[in-house]
Formats: sequence, C-alpha cells, structure tokens
Amino acid sequence: MFIGHYSAAFAARAAKPSIPLWQLFVAVQLVDFAWAGLVLAGVEKLRITKGFMEASILDLHHMPYTHSLVAVIVWAIAAGALYGVLRKGGGKVAAGLIIGGAVFSHWLLDLIVHGPDLALYFGGPKVGLGLWNSMLWTQVVEIGGLLIGAAIYIAHTKPKGRWGVIAPIALIAFMLMLQIYNHLPLDHPPAVPFFAIQALFGYTLLAVLAWLVDRTRQPA
Ligand SMILES: [Zn+2]
Repeated sequence: MFIGHYSAAFAARAAKPSIPLWQLFVAVQLVDFAWAGLVLAGVEKLRITKGFMEASILDLHHMPYTHSLVAVIVWAIAAGALYGVLRKGGGKVAAGLIIGGAVFSHWLLDLIVHGPDLALYFGGPKVGLGLWNSMLWTQVVEIGGLLIGAAIYIAHTKPKGRWGVIAPIALIAFMLMLQIYNHLPLDHPPAVPFFAIQALFGYTLLAVLAWLVDRTRQPA
C-alpha cells in the first residue's frame, strides 16, 4: 500500500493536534523507510515481476525485519517510547501511544492489500488478504481511505493565512497523481535499487509537503 497509509496519519493528527502532521507521515511509513534502506543494503529482498498481482509488480519474498508482525510490533513500541521520551512538554504517554499506533497501522493496512508475504514471525507463516489482485478495489480502498482521512484532518483544522484553503487540496491532488503514477503499466519496470531509492524519495517528499501544509492550518 502507498498513499492509503496516510489516511491513518491524517486521522491521528485530528486525534492529537499537538503532533505535527509531518511526523505522523513519517510514522505511518516508518517500516517502509526501513524496508527501502534494508533493500538497498541487500538485507531484505524482492523481485520486480510484471503482472505479479493485478495492482502490484512486487514479489516481496523476504522482509522479516520490517514487515513481519513481530518486527512491526517492536518498531511500533520502540518508536512510540522514543517519541514519548523525546517529546517536550506534557502528554508524553498519549503522544507516544499515537505514534506507536501510527507505526503499527502500516502493518494492518498492508495486510489488506499484500499477497501472503507478511510473516507473523521470523520464519513463520505468511499472511496477506490480497486486495492487490484487484486494481479496482485497490484504488477504491486506497483513494477512499486517503480522502476520508484527509476530510477528518480538514474538518478538525481551519485555514491560517492565505494558503490555508488551497494547500491541503493541492497536497491531496498531488498524492492522487502519485498513486496513479505508481500503478501505470510499465513496459520496463525499474530495477530494484532504483525502485527503493524512488520510494525513499517519495516518502521524504510527502513528509516535507505535509510539514508545509500543516503550517497553513490551525486547530479548529
Ligand atoms: Zn509496507
């Protein structure tokens, strides 16, 4: 899953307005940041196979450190605890729980779309509900989820300054474009390292854009 993960970030921002949106954007993709890094390091492995699933060219056959259930629980607890400790001011526990929950949401949403490539534990059985077998339902769930999350964010914030109305709409439009680009049929799919670098660049760019958009909004 790609842009659908950000539905959780937008919704979490509404639940805890004192956590900046960009930090939630990083949290919901934290294990994919790690995944792309470990793919580049040769530790986690995938094959890029045209037509692997209707909505995915990724044969994700080895990613125990970032996408097994046990690993994601560890990532979520570690990220939430670290965030709570480093946070200045009050609400440390609540903020840590929300960041941990945002990190863990990644696995739950991946579970919906992935084929059976998400191990429960290292070497354990692999699960995945396989929504990627349907391009139509993949788009309905990812785009629908993003729009619902963004609507919650917009409803819980109000514009600050003259960019406050257009900025979130522009971000959502850009994310929809990325989603379409990500599913364009390619004659020559990218090589694995290029794909991982592109993923890191995309996640980072979206976090920066979320930071910019958040500056144009204030709690409603
Ligand atoms: Zn993932």
